[in-house]
Amino acid sequence: MTRLAHLIALCIAAAVACSLEARAQGHASGGACWSAAELAGKPGEKSIHRETYDPTIEPRDLAEPLAPVAPALRGSIRSVKLPPGEKLVALTFDLCENAWEVSGYDASIFDTLRKSGVKATFFASGKWLMDHSERAQQLMADPLFEVGAHSWTHRNFRLLPPDEMRRDLSLNLNADGRLRRELSGRSCYRPGTGPVEASRPLVFRFPFGTCNTEALDAVNDAGLLAIQWDIPTGDPAPAQTADAIAKSAATAKPGSIIVMHANGRGHHTAEALPHMIDELRKRGFGFATVSELIAKGTPVIKDTCYELKPGDNVKYDKLFPLDRANNAAPPPAAAAKHAPAPTGWGADVKNTAPAATHPAAPITADRP
Ligand SMILES: [Zn+2]
Repeated sequence: MTRLAHLIALCIAAAVACSLEARAQGHASGGACWSAAELAGKPGEKSIHRETYDPTIEPRDLAEPLAPVAPALRGSIRSVKLPPGEKLVALTFDLCENAWEVSGYDASIFDTLRKSGVKATFFASGKWLMDHSERAQQLMADPLFEVGAHSWTHRNFRLLPPDEMRRDLSLNLNADGRLRRELSGRSCYRPGTGPVEASRPLVFRFPFGTCNTEALDAVNDAGLLAIQWDIPTGDPAPAQTADAIAKSAATAKPGSIIVMHANGRGHHTAEALPHMIDELRKRGFGFATVSELIAKGTPVIKDTCYELKPGDNVKYDKLFPLDRANNAAPPPAAAAKHAPAPTGWGADVKNTAPAATHPAAPITADRP
C-alpha cells in the first residue's frame, strides 16, 4: 500500500469510528448533548464534603403548579399490585443533600444502569440538583431514567410545620423546573428522546422516609405521588455489605419498590448493583420506573410512613429533631450514637476545611 492509500484508509477508518461514536453518544445520552466520555464517571465525584449553606442559590423562578393528587392515589405508596404476567420491579435511588454539605454522584451506579439498559427512578433533593446541574440534566435527558423530587435540603417532614413543608417543596420543584427548562433549551437536546418533556417530577420521596398526615397532604396537594418502598436495602449503613444489599432483593415480588442511594451514601451499592440486576433478571424480572409501575397496576397505599415497626424510621426523629429541623449542621456524634441503627446520614461527611473557616450557617426565620 502506498503512503497515500494508507493515509486514505486511515481517514476512512477514523470517519467510520467517529460516526459510530456519535451514534453511540446519541443513544447513550438520550439527546446527544454529551459524549460517552462526558457521561462516564470522574474520580472523586462520589465524595461528600462540608459546605456552608448559601441561601442565594435558592431558586425563585416558580414552577407551574400541578393539580392535587386524586383521592385514590393519596397516601404513602409502598408497592404496586400488577396484573398477572407483569413481572416488573422499580429500582429507586435517593440523591439526598443536606444544607451543610455537597453530597456525591456515585458514577458507577449510573454507568451500570446505562450499560445494562436498566430503568430506574432517582429522587433528588433540589439542592443536589443545583450543585450537580450537569449530571442532573444528563439524568433528566436519559430515556432510562425518571427524576423525582426529594425536598430542598432533606429536612425531616414529620417535624416540619406545614408552611415550611410547602416552602421546601416549592424550592425543590423550582430547582427541578429550572434545570428541565435549561435542558430543553439546549440546541443539542433532541425533543422526544427523554422524559424531560414531563417538565416536572410527578413522584416524591420523603427525606428519611418520614411523614405524618400533614406531610402526606402537603406532598399530594402539590401534585406529587408520595413514594415509599417495600424493599429496604440498608445501604446508607457503612457496615451493610454489598452481598447483603444485593440479597435484599431476594424478597422482591412483582410491583416491588427497592430503595437505595446514589449520592455517595450508598456505601456498597455500586458493588452490589450488578449482582442484584443479574439475580432479578434470572428470576424473570424486568425493570420499570416508579411512574411506569404505577401506570401498569394498582398502588398499595398506606397512611403512615413506617413509623411503628422494626426497620421503621422513627429513629430519625432523634437524629433530626425539631430544633435541628433547619438542617444547618450534621447531627452531633452523641445523637448518632443513641440512634438505634446509625445509617451514616451526616456521620460520614468529610470536613474538607477547618471548622473555624467553615462554620455552619444558621438558616432560620429570616428566610421568606
Ligand atoms: Zn434522602
